[in-house]
Amino acid sequence: MSRADQLADIQKRIAMACAKAGRATDAVQLLAVSKTFPLSDVLEFHACGQTTFGENYLQEALDKITQLADHPNAQQNTPAIEWHFIGPIQSNKTKPIAENFPWVHSVDRLKIAQRLSDQRPSNLPALNVLVQINTSGEDSKSGVEPADAVELCKTISALPNLKLRGLMTIPSNTENTDQLKAEFLQCKTIFDELNNQGLKLDTLSMGMSADLELAIECGSTCVRVGSALFGARSYPK
Ligand SMILES: *Cc1c(COP(=O)(O)O)cnc(C)c1O
Repeated sequence: MSRADQLADIQKRIAMACAKAGRATDAVQLLAVSKTFPLSDVLEFHACGQTTFGENYLQEALDKITQLADHPNAQQNTPAIEWHFIGPIQSNKTKPIAENFPWVHSVDRLKIAQRLSDQRPSNLPALNVLVQINTSGEDSKSGVEPADAVELCKTISALPNLKLRGLMTIPSNTENTDQLKAEFLQCKTIFDELNNQGLKLDTLSMGMSADLELAIECGSTCVRVGSALFGARSYPK
């Protein structure tokens, strides 16, 4: 399948899920998750019209961002590629994240948010952030506990150089649809609660290659799709 066909395939899955849920097709954005794949693959999808790409590993992402800046065709890449950081964040790595990304999906504690705000360069617009919610209840998963999410989000929304746009979650690694649905809905409930309390959140990042339809049914506005676009990843996470 060509890159254009792979992209059209995913867009069709998104459109069908939106139709089934009675939602507008443009209510859900596709974030192409390019971790472990080279910049050349990113550029192929970009040439087909995909502009937003998600990366998990900081050094790998920074390498691609540098390569892109040095790329002979960088000027012709319009609209520009928009990089979203979606991986776990160590506090000693916040500075390059604040300097190089317009979006971060994986903020899960105040210390990280505070550092990102402090380190956001003043010549750049506010950093768009999502708070990651640990809906799976697994200790190993990152994300704030659901019970603590509202307070954390309110505090983060007051930080000067961040713009809190919404929430993100990675559900349990299970094929149990009922469980996945309960986890997605838990995140959607917190999202609605925050908007009811006056925050203006517009982004709910949920759903990956295997479960994007279910996530859209549960209110996702951004699906993060890796392997269904790029193919199987050849080195482990
Ligand atoms: C790898 C990854 C994805 C993409 O997963 P696929 O199953 O390959 O679509 C989405 N979100 C996060 C946070 C990831 O780490």
